[in-house]
Amino acid sequence: MAKIRNNWHACPAKEILNMLRTQKSGLAKDDAAHRLERCGFNELPREKGLSGLKVFLAQFKGPLIIILLVAAGISLVIREFVDFGVIIAAVFLNTVIGFVQEYKANKSLKRLKEMIEPQATVRRDGREIIIPSREVVAGDILILEAGARIPADCRLIEAYDFSTNEAALTGESLPINKIITPLSAGTLLAERRNMAYLSTVAVRGRAVAVAVATGRETELGRIAKMISEIPEEPTPLQVQLSFLGKSLGGIVSIISLLIFIFGVILGQPWFGMLLTSVALSVAAIPEGLLVAMTVVLAIGMQSILKKQALTRRLITAETLGSVSVICSDKTGTLTLGVMQVTTVETYKGALELPSEIEGNMFAKSDHAIALKIVLLCNDAHFENPDQPVTSTIIGDPTEVALFRAARESGLDIHELARSYVRKFELPFDAGKRYMATRHEFKKDADVIYVKGAPEQVLSFCSYYLADGEIHHLGKDERDKIHKDVLRLAGKGLRILAAAYRRHDPEDPDLGENDLKEMVFTALVGLQDPVRPEARETIRLCREAGIRPVIVTGDHILTATAVAEQVGIEIKHDNAMNGAEIDRMNDRELAKVIKRVDIFARVEPQHKVRIVDAWQAAGAVVAMTGDGVNDAPALKSADVGVALGSGTDVAKENSDLVLLDDNYRTIVNAVHRGRIIFDNIRKIIVYHLADSFGEMILIVGSLIFRLPLPLLPAQILWINLITDGLPSFALTVEPGEKDVMRIPPRPRTEPVMNREMKLLIFLVGILTDIGLFLLFIYMLNIGKEVDYARTIVFAALGVDSLFYVFSCRSLRHTIFTFNPFSNRFLLAAVVGGLALQLVALYVPFFQNLFGLQVLYFKDWLLVLAIGVIEILAIEITKLFFIAARKRKQPACAI
Ligand code: ADP
Ligand code: MG
Repeated sequence: MAKIRNNWHACPAKEILNMLRTQKSGLAKDDAAHRLERCGFNELPREKGLSGLKVFLAQFKGPLIIILLVAAGISLVIREFVDFGVIIAAVFLNTVIGFVQEYKANKSLKRLKEMIEPQATVRRDGREIIIPSREVVAGDILILEAGARIPADCRLIEAYDFSTNEAALTGESLPINKIITPLSAGTLLAERRNMAYLSTVAVRGRAVAVAVATGRETELGRIAKMISEIPEEPTPLQVQLSFLGKSLGGIVSIISLLIFIFGVILGQPWFGMLLTSVALSVAAIPEGLLVAMTVVLAIGMQSILKKQALTRRLITAETLGSVSVICSDKTGTLTLGVMQVTTVETYKGALELPSEIEGNMFAKSDHAIALKIVLLCNDAHFENPDQPVTSTIIGDPTEVALFRAARESGLDIHELARSYVRKFELPFDAGKRYMATRHEFKKDADVIYVKGAPEQVLSFCSYYLADGEIHHLGKDERDKIHKDVLRLAGKGLRILAAAYRRHDPEDPDLGENDLKEMVFTALVGLQDPVRPEARETIRLCREAGIRPVIVTGDHILTATAVAEQVGIEIKHDNAMNGAEIDRMNDRELAKVIKRVDIFARVEPQHKVRIVDAWQAAGAVVAMTGDGVNDAPALKSADVGVALGSGTDVAKENSDLVLLDDNYRTIVNAVHRGRIIFDNIRKIIVYHLADSFGEMILIVGSLIFRLPLPLLPAQILWINLITDGLPSFALTVEPGEKDVMRIPPRPRTEPVMNREMKLLIFLVGILTDIGLFLLFIYMLNIGKEVDYARTIVFAALGVDSLFYVFSCRSLRHTIFTFNPFSNRFLLAAVVGGLALQLVALYVPFFQNLFGLQVLYFKDWLLVLAIGVIEILAIEITKLFFIAARKRKQPACAI
């Protein structure tokens, strides 16, 4: 075999089938299972993901941990064992928290990746089935359609207008048209036009091929020893935050250093000052923030998945929230995508299905001929060919409906398939909008069938069929058919026209120039009911300040009829044909883009221009797509949305995959995206307000030449325990009631807005004023420094456990929602309080942290500070709310 292995392209297809002990009807199921067992899965070796240990070790990399470890080392050298113990405990806790969060995030990301397992269509036991690509074996007969990633190296045995893009293998970016004839043995890999290779992409047409090599045996497998995981790029938000983190880190380090120097100059003991600076750095460097943020995104992706949408990258989760325009297909997303033929209209008149079929009369009618055309010029097929009456029909929804109509009207499908063997085909493509097939009809005659959008099909026709006779198709007749089209489309029906012609059997193939002088036979109207929830979803979109736009390949009247059913009002100039886009330059398009709700007869290249025009108008655009040619539009959209039923290429170029094709799912995902963003903001405010407060407290005490109001160990405890737990719980905040009732966040708005900065500043300053007054008062009434510190310690801890409830909403006051509805947060706060009490009252910890027993009336002071804090935050929010009301409406679109 080894010699042949490189020469598949030089063998005739028949020989290859023999050599691989297979046949056109595919392998038997058992045989395939055997082969799989013997040769292994069709996959390339992958690099192992991050192991638990690696994630754990990574926790020790941050500058923070290094600072802590150095401090621990120093305390050991100077025999301060208590400090040593506290710092080591802090390091340990920090590592564990970081590890748990990151491990959780990694695991859920991995699960998401596994969801997008590639699949392949193969023939087994004479049936076409879909299997995971990893189960493809050499000898499998593969069905390759435009948009599919080729699942193995294979030799083509049938090819219809079939091209692949082999950039992934050879770097050649132009599509290569494929043939099936043998080539000379010396042909280079890039020129083996009768082969298709693993991981290249079918961009046009259809083909049948036999798999010759899988997994490591493939050309790609031999070049690439290892497919390494492409590392997830940081999202813009993560970049913004990591910049924030770094600059804060820098500033904090400098301030800490200054604090240390001044402290020592002002007569504080150097070691105490050192630990204080270290503890402060720990407080103020927002490392936990970055981890928390990854966790929020990962959790968000999971909950989006629960709602039937798959986010392919972290970045999508955060962009989703700011989507302001959703450009969506109609078929399958707004409608159920379950079509039914309701009428077949010939030149002479309509036949309503299924009611009007009557035995013998029908069999010879023009209507029956039309149904025969759309049945044979069709790639749908029975799932179970042995039971044609009851079997499910598989394929594109439009074609399934046509196939079903033919079955229901009593056509003998098996018999027709036998007597009209398909020889060539021009597959359907969203740009061309028609499909043509050529069949052997009799020994000496072939016939060509076309079905497709009426404008297209009519342009091929010179005749029409009426009561079995062929007439010339003049201008008047065309006008009449055109009127029929408008009438049917006005009812919201999807319309296809069917036509045929005889063809010379000697002609070697089927090309576009053969489609001429055809005989128009009938219009077929298909009904696709609107999804029951579509209207409500469109309303929800609008309420959320998101503009719904329909972008469809269907007729403009079909599109507008459906649009009205889902609640999009039709005005005199808000619907436009793709051809009109062609007549406009970018500037003209940008001018009208905002007034158009419906784009009809759109071709894939128009989608890119629609996205660009909206983006130029400042919108964040989501665009749906399913075909190969939709890839550029999906890429250029801010959120490319692929239908789950779409092609591999569409999915690979998308950010979001709708598992159920439903429009509602996009809106649900946007909803989640907004919650994710809100939660990130809440966590930022909570984290930074705390750090800022502690900084000022220490700096202030130095300036006023007071003793330190907090000891280093105390600062560490508060940061890790009382602050750490609630911020963990904020990652699962359920989202506020009004997230979908406010306009989307403008593209330009930074994560940290003015309101947040003010809140952070305010919380910090207020806490400090309260604590200082308390501290000074205690010293003044003659309490020991340790006692005064105990109060500050208790207050600082309790206080952040209080105002975390205020942080649950940055837009609303705490009085407008149930502050206790996040159970995790409740548990975190109760846990935090309990631990705070442990520190304050368990003798061991008391000694460790240098704390004293607090009197009951002092607890009242502590609680009072917490309450004042909450009130202050809430009053500030009220100001923001009032200011926002004055500015509204902010929605640009
Ligand atoms: P949509 O935006 O609704 O997905 P398509 O691009 O699938 O629109 O279809 C556009 C038009 O192409 C339809 O109105 C129909 O006339 C025609 N068409 C759709 N599917 C097929 C098919 N399988 N074969 C032939 N013509 C088709
Ligand atoms: Mg379609």
